[in-house]
Amino acid sequence: MDFVESAEQQMLRSAVAGLAGRYGREYVAKKVKADGRTTELWAEAGRLGYLGVAVPEEYGGGGGGIYELHIVGEELAAAGCPLLLLVVSPAICGTVIATFGTEEQKKQWLPGFADGSLKMVFAITEPDAGSNSHRLTTVARRDGTDWLLSGRKVFISGVDEADYVLVVGRTEDARSGKLKPCLFVVPPDAAGLEYRQIEMAFSAPEKQFALFLDDVRLPAEGLIGTEDAGLLQLFAGLNPERITVAAQTCGMGRYALDRAARYGRERQVWSTPVGAHQGVAHPLAQAKIELELARLMTQKAAWLYDEAGTDVARHAAAGEAANMAKYAAGEAAYHALDRAIQIHGGNGMTVEYGLASYWGGIRAAQIAPVSREMILNFVAQHSLGLPKSY
Ligand SMILES: Cc1cc2nc3c(=O)[nH]c(=O)nc-3n(C[C@H](O)[C@H](O)[C@H](O)COP(=O)(O)OP(=O)(O)OC[C@H]3O[C@@H](n4cnc5c(N)ncnc54)[C@H](O)[C@@H]3O)c2cc1C
Repeated sequence: MDFVESAEQQMLRSAVAGLAGRYGREYVAKKVKADGRTTELWAEAGRLGYLGVAVPEEYGGGGGGIYELHIVGEELAAAGCPLLLLVVSPAICGTVIATFGTEEQKKQWLPGFADGSLKMVFAITEPDAGSNSHRLTTVARRDGTDWLLSGRKVFISGVDEADYVLVVGRTEDARSGKLKPCLFVVPPDAAGLEYRQIEMAFSAPEKQFALFLDDVRLPAEGLIGTEDAGLLQLFAGLNPERITVAAQTCGMGRYALDRAARYGRERQVWSTPVGAHQGVAHPLAQAKIELELARLMTQKAAWLYDEAGTDVARHAAAGEAANMAKYAAGEAAYHALDRAIQIHGGNGMTVEYGLASYWGGIRAAQIAPVSREMILNFVAQHSLGLPKSY
């Protein structure tokens, strides 16, 4: 066992940190203020191969794994400029297609994931199903060789800037009972698809949308892989999502703590800098410990996922670690940010110091992509063998 990242991984970390340092929190703040998108950062990260680190080499990618992608996500966020769509486009959609797509689908989509020129967002959440994916009602029925897809989705990030949406539905034959998901690639301008922005109460350049699908016609190859891949295919994407969300959340926590420590060394209103007061230093030290523990679990989850190959039991272990990492990251970053705001006093609430604006992103990480409570349910039932209450 080696807790030191390889020379290549360390180089990737510092290269991404270098790029992100040129953009930073101010870049994001400007975009939010102008209702703009982080197009330049996405394009540059794509061109440099960072967004495609986990895409297989034969399709133009870096040939790495979710470990490398989590490094990219963490370092962007640690510099103040997370790319929310990294967790849906390369982490979910890229991984699902690389793992379960047909050869034609891989050739069609993977080069775009490799250089970031393709943005595919992901739609699973439904208004009436929420955390209970077994209640999904988006249904695809066959019409000749085509599919007709109907249903509703909510809180789908980035539809306005996406080339495609990967929609989770069921086939008509499996429309009720335990979820047997099928994944469809849908262009946002397809006839029968409408989307409407949901106004969110936090500042981020990426927006959320409600989708309305009414008999959206898709060719046979709009279905990724086969109808039978089911939950395995879905979790091939959801676990990388949890891991990269955990990484980005740890990155946001690091950003907050870095600023807190700097301020604590510099700001002085009594005879010592404010960081010398144990009332503020100890909560920050605690947050640092929590954050490092969350990072460790995130690294473990990424490593387990990459090592699992086609072994279902090892994927289950990776899934457990991914859930724990996402939970731990959400809690740790939340504490880190809260305490970082506190040490800044009034400055903690200003735009200039760039902390309060991270609140929404960090708070959302306790809700999405899977809530804190659903992770606790998972751990109670699967890790501890406790009975299910629902
Ligand atoms: C910023 C943001 C971006 C998002 N982006 C996407 C996206 O790109 N694609 C996408 O598909 N979705 C996206 N989502 C949706 C997100 O995944 C869901 O909001 C999340 O899974 C929770 O579902 P829900 O909102 O329906 O909550 P509900 O399922 O209605 O749950 C409400 C509350 O009850 C709790 N609860 C529910 N069931 C149980 C139980 N059995 N035991 C204990 N507590 C329970 C939940 O933890 C939660 O606190 C996004 C959400 C946000 C906030």
